[in-house]
Amino acid sequence: MCVYGHLLRKGRAVSQHSFSGRAARKYRDRVLSEYGTTCHLCGLPGATTVDHLIPRSHGGENSIENGRPAHSRCNSARGNMPLSQWFLQQKKKRAQGGATHTPTDHHVSEPSRNW
Ligand SMILES: [Zn+2]
Repeated sequence: MCVYGHLLRKGRAVSQHSFSGRAARKYRDRVLSEYGTTCHLCGLPGATTVDHLIPRSHGGENSIENGRPAHSRCNSARGNMPLSQWFLQQKKKRAQGGATHTPTDHHVSEPSRNW
């Protein structure tokens, strides 16, 4: 299916202002229906926003190809970080998080004891 025709017809010079509200929602709906709702940043389901593989500030476009589902918190946590850096950080975080007592990831949602 041709997902670009629609975007191109509107012109490539889509300003941030015109890409709010309905247009943004439509774009999100399309990306989510294309890729599902698994967050591409953390791998968990329940994504409700679209993250840009190439951040828009780096020239990334609002195309289906450049969009991936993401949780809003993952999305804002990543910000304009390059994806490679993000995944590196995630890896480090995971390594640090499980480094204390339990080798399993079972207690991640509980606060760690500092005493
Ligand atoms: Zn996520």
